Amino acid sequence: MPNNNHGDQSGDNSLNVGVGDFRGANVNISHNERSTFTPEQLHIKRHSAFGGRSVDSSNVSVFGGITGVASLIGLYFTLFQPPLGGQSSWSTFFMFSFIVAVMAVAMSAVLRRRKFEHFFGSRHYIEISQAGRLRVNRLTAQCPWCGSLMHLRRVGPKEGARDDQFICVRNPAQHTIQLDPTVLPDIED
Ligand SMILES: [Zn+2]
Repeated sequence: MPNNNHGDQSGDNSLNVGVGDFRGANVNISHNERSTFTPEQLHIKRHSAFGGRSVDSSNVSVFGGITGVASLIGLYFTLFQPPLGGQSSWSTFFMFSFIVAVMAVAMSAVLRRRKFEHFFGSRHYIEISQAGRLRVNRLTAQCPWCGSLMHLRRVGPKEGARDDQFICVRNPAQHTIQLDPTVLPDIED
């Protein structure tokens, strides 16, 4: 079959879908053209949670490893020892601590790569400093359109892609900026 390019593929600033194929066609999605700002223009500020306390990320992996091994040993004895009563609650406890351990190890591995991850609630983010320490921060900015305060929030559908966006307190519907966490300055200890 010859590669004929069917359909009308002219147009501008809108999504153009040809009938045949996309060869030689431009696909433009107009709302992708967002204005970008530098962190200096946005006056991004970090606000540390937990009084600025930090944890060494290698401690988190070590903690995860120890907890994981301990919970596996515990689970083994709970499952294979003669029943003494209360057995099922112990195995639930060990399973739970094993899951916590796996999460701690996975989380510190992800963080060392990404340096920035949503933590809990809609506003708290966990970040890793230059020295590899974990900190929990909230981030705010100044709205470049109206000068109001903006909060960084994790927004999006419960299931599906979610975004970290600075949202203006005065015009939350229109004044939003998607954050690229790689532009944030490093945290110095
Ligand atoms: Zn605004």
